[in-house]
Amino acid sequence: MSGCLFCRIASGEIPADVVLRNNDVVAFRDVNPQAPVHVLVIPIEHHTNVTELSAKAPHLTSKLIDAAAAVAQGEGLDDQYRLVFNTGADVGQSVFHVHAHVLGGRNFAWPPG
Ligand code: AMP
Repeated sequence: MSGCLFCRIASGEIPADVVLRNNDVVAFRDVNPQAPVHVLVIPIEHHTNVTELSAKAPHLTSKLIDAAAAVAQGEGLDDQYRLVFNTGADVGQSVFHVHAHVLGGRNFAWPPG
């Protein structure tokens, strides 16, 4: 989708610190990390949020989560990580191309702020 920041990262038009890429997804480090490990995993195909992704492309939802787990393992998080899909501006979504935040490397509080 033209003008979408994460579509432009997925296509390589905008540089990012990519840690994983395959035919379906790209994972890259967040520019404003909130934890020692903070990686965003996106499908190359544009979907606005995880609700739309799950409804329209369930196979990609599964691939996205598999990729998030692979990133966590590759980053040495040893199955200790938080996976976040902000869905909607009210809860903090600022980029409307679905992305999973893979966060880890420190202890987290619950509930989140
Ligand atoms: P959200 O607020 O859940 O939509 O998350 C969007 C995330 O994208 C934020 O954590 C931003 O720091 C991150 N972000 C914005 N622009 C870039 C960029 N060019 N490269 C990497 N991460 C970005």
